[in-house]
Amino acid sequence: MASSTLTTPTSDLVVEIHGHIVPTALLIGGEWRSTERTFAVANPATGQTIADMSDGSPVEAREALDAATAAAESWRAWPPRARADLFHRAHRLLVERADAFADVMVSESGKPRAEAVGEFELSAGFFLWYSEQIAHLHGTYQEGSRGGYRVIETHQPVGPSLLITPWNFPMLMSARKAGAALAAGCTVIMKSARETPLTAALFADTLNEAGFPAGVINLIHTSTSADVSAGLMADDRLRKVSFTGSTGVGRTLLAQASANIMNASMELGGDGPFIVLDDADLELAVDQAIICKFRNAGQACVAANRIILHSAIADRFVEAFVEKTRQLAVGHGFDPAVTVGPLISERQRHRVVGLVDAFQASGAELLAGGHAIDGQGFFYEPTVLRFSGLKHEFANEELFAPVAALYTVDTVSEAIEFANDTHYGLSAYLFTKDLSRAVAIAEKLDFGMVGINRGIMADPAAPFGGIKASGLGREGGHDGIYEFLERKYLALTID
Ligand code: NAD
Repeated sequence: MASSTLTTPTSDLVVEIHGHIVPTALLIGGEWRSTERTFAVANPATGQTIADMSDGSPVEAREALDAATAAAESWRAWPPRARADLFHRAHRLLVERADAFADVMVSESGKPRAEAVGEFELSAGFFLWYSEQIAHLHGTYQEGSRGGYRVIETHQPVGPSLLITPWNFPMLMSARKAGAALAAGCTVIMKSARETPLTAALFADTLNEAGFPAGVINLIHTSTSADVSAGLMADDRLRKVSFTGSTGVGRTLLAQASANIMNASMELGGDGPFIVLDDADLELAVDQAIICKFRNAGQACVAANRIILHSAIADRFVEAFVEKTRQLAVGHGFDPAVTVGPLISERQRHRVVGLVDAFQASGAELLAGGHAIDGQGFFYEPTVLRFSGLKHEFANEELFAPVAALYTVDTVSEAIEFANDTHYGLSAYLFTKDLSRAVAIAEKLDFGMVGINRGIMADPAAPFGGIKASGLGREGGHDGIYEFLERKYLALTID
């Protein structure tokens, strides 16, 4: 097993966030390293700078790949039980730091603390899930079809992997990707999101402290993601990219991966239809729609993007939904009464203002909210808009905002047709008390995931991912670890 030459960050390489010490440097080959250039991280609830992070360039990225490549052979040689034991130690350390993770997430992403705690618990659950998968990997052995030899199928790690994460779920995305990759025996370069590098730093620091060998986990923060990742993607020592983010960036990375014939997993945008049928439990549907729409201020790829209501229940749903929307409390994530935090940046808020204007100009009726909130931070009112017809021109518009768009249909087939009229295919939601009807409809929905009478689906035991422009590959579930493993065939002659 590799011996570890890990360092903890010195006092000039950390920042105090809500009483917790978090590294601001890059982690390369087990060492925390600062750069001359830095970039500022702001709290979106105040707009104030909370940290200055080291700003990695293609040079540091290349050094991180050097380290990941150097550590690859010894890391993959760790016996599964030793690797699983290390994961358990890391899981215990993550749990000990639960408060720090929640506070740091609230500080840099603005989400309400209860949501940050929920994200932490799910993330830790993923880490535990992968730790259990390590010990359960299996191969096959069979007689060759022409006799005289045996077919042995086994697996090996794909190799050094680049993990690129977005800002909306900084802990979950880091843990879900790094958990699978490390469990499979890959070394990693984590590339944090510019807006939320502190959560990723605390995560890498925790794994470092748990005892992952130097070079197995490397972390790069940067204000120039395109340059940093282009350099790595062109290097044939990198063998996999796992990306969560927008479909546009996903396309760029896929093109780069194809030039280098590299394994790629993509978790991209979504346009979730949330269908409520005439026989739905309306109270449940409204409650789940509120969570599915307004969680993380609507900045979720699996958010309810188009709420599609059967005309028999539409007015009743709308009345209850608008009332519950008005009860949402917007504010600073550390206030326990708050249920909706700010948007991540002024740029995002500006985009939302334009979106709501465009919807109203196209004839949508404003039933709640509809304005940016003056003062500190990037807050926007929880908003409800009702369309009179089916606005297909918005079918591919990922709102990524606390803005609910309600549509009415007269038939189930109209609901399915409208739901599928998008180039995305991540998540869909369906509310009906008739289970066989639900299954029949779910089979016709062109999405990777369908929530039946549920507005929240992420679970370590479930394969998360989409089809069409929503991506390639799955994270979690029984096959999750295989995203970072190559199948390998050995042919063995038998006398
Ligand atoms: P983004 O694509 O702009 O950024 C995602 C990550 O990619 C960030 O780390 C960013 O720094 C990096 N990046 C940006 N340009 C890059 C480039 N040219 N090369 C390499 N890396 C680059 O997305 P975002 O604004 O951070 O997040 C919002 C998007 O992510 C939404 O479209 C949302 O649907 C999607 N998302 C998808 C999932 C999913 O699981 N399917 C989950 C969360 C977010």
